[in-house]
Amino acid sequence: MRIGIYPGSFDPVTFGHVDIILRSSKMFDLLIIAVLNNNVKKPLFSAEERVELIRQVTKNMRNVSVEAFDGLLIDFVKKKNASTIVRGLRAVSDFEYELQIAQTNHKMSSDIDTVFLTTSLEYSYLSSSIVREIASYNGDISKFVPKEIIPSILAKYNKSLD
Ligand code: ADP
Repeated sequence: MRIGIYPGSFDPVTFGHVDIILRSSKMFDLLIIAVLNNNVKKPLFSAEERVELIRQVTKNMRNVSVEAFDGLLIDFVKKKNASTIVRGLRAVSDFEYELQIAQTNHKMSSDIDTVFLTTSLEYSYLSSSIVREIASYNGDISKFVPKEIIPSILAKYNKSLD
């Protein structure tokens, strides 16, 4: 069984993430989306909330599951018996950091590889932080995130759809 891990903050999940999830889930028997429970960055959504939002968005994808993790990604990957880490690349600016992380992880565990999917052009500009910024001003985020999670995002800013 080929298991892939797609780690990230997903604060919140966007169409850019969904695109990577859809494409990479075809490469594995099981794709586990691993939500980083990061105690350094102060996230908008708790890890549990981020997991729940991704579950809503992926509920019709049969070989996709979602879990929160903390600690080292490489330890989580091993615990899940996975062999591959999936990351998305948007721009050259992502590359240097991603290369460093991928090489470090490979050095720590040589049987685990990272694969990169390049973003679909229409989402190359899209990030969770842009979604948070627009939502905080009650802007229209319907082009950026799946509609079922819009109320949860607006609620964080005490905004609503009306
Ligand atoms: P992190 O804090 O780990 O970068 P993110 O939630 O920002 O967490 O991103 C998780 C992964 O999804 C990263 O590999 C990132 O490059 C990728 N990603 C984020 N937005 C997009 C997008 N619009 N298109 C493609 N990949 C994306």
